[in-house]
Amino acid sequence: MITLQAYAKINLSLDVVGRLSNGYHLVRMIMQTVGICDELSFEKTEGEIRITTNDGELPLGEDNLIYKAAALIRDRFHTGGVSVHLEKRIPVAAGMAGGSTDAACTLKAMNQLYGLQLSGEELRELGVKLGADVPYCIMGGTALSEGIGEVLTPIAPMPDCYLLVAKPEINVSTKYVYEQLDSHEIQDHPDVDGMRRAIEEKNVRDMAELLGNVLQTVTVEQYPIVEEIKQVMLEQGALGSLMSGSGPSTFGIFEDEAKAQAAAEKIKALGLANQLFVTKPVNMI
Ligand code: ATP
Repeated sequence: MITLQAYAKINLSLDVVGRLSNGYHLVRMIMQTVGICDELSFEKTEGEIRITTNDGELPLGEDNLIYKAAALIRDRFHTGGVSVHLEKRIPVAAGMAGGSTDAACTLKAMNQLYGLQLSGEELRELGVKLGADVPYCIMGGTALSEGIGEVLTPIAPMPDCYLLVAKPEINVSTKYVYEQLDSHEIQDHPDVDGMRRAIEEKNVRDMAELLGNVLQTVTVEQYPIVEEIKQVMLEQGALGSLMSGSGPSTFGIFEDEAKAQAAAEKIKALGLANQLFVTKPVNMI
């Protein structure tokens, strides 16, 4: 049996720069792994794929991304199957790539269990078939993600800081957010290259100022609670705050752990979110 951790991500910058005829969006995003993770245990089976989990809401059959990842490897390389137990800790449908990171982890586990010796690049090529964020989740750390998410450039590690992540009790459909974006003219493109420079210069304050996400306007219009959470984080001393991915998870960057904790308590007391994590950027996975 092998046990692996599957880490969540946040987007420090997220821009949409085009749309393909198949509906996929061309993105430019700066991704960062954070210290919130699911734990997955894997055991070989003769051929079937079985999933158990502590989360009562998740699908356990073919709709689970873990299932899809395991089936992809099994059918392509004629391996046996796998029995997987998932301890879900990453908020679901939250903009933190929870499903994608489980899929990435499953590809790595199958590679290890069946001694396939696939390289990182080969795993990423398989991963993109499962979802646009899967190749990044295989790599982790700090990276620029382009194309539909498959063109990845590692960049310098994000400078050390505390991150408060808050997930309000609403579910946001990624598909809906992108559809709404298509019907709006994008007014404000975030400065993705500026963010990359700020990270490379290890300038947390510039980073905090350059945080930007084109999807935020769409989500905030429908769910003003995201803006309320951002405001509380800023009042409580965050250097900057942003919604991650298509939301609704929202994070703040803090230099001071006590301030991040105080902001978490305030957000909870106000009833704005009940899944709250004080964490840090993770650079090695
Ligand atoms: P992204 O940031 O990549 O848009 P997300 O964090 O918004 O992802 P997920 O947590 O990946 O969203 O979940 C999206 C949907 O995928 C959920 O509604 C869930 O039912 C389904 N799903 C399938 N497999 C999984 C999995 N292993 N973990 C979480 N969700 C899964």
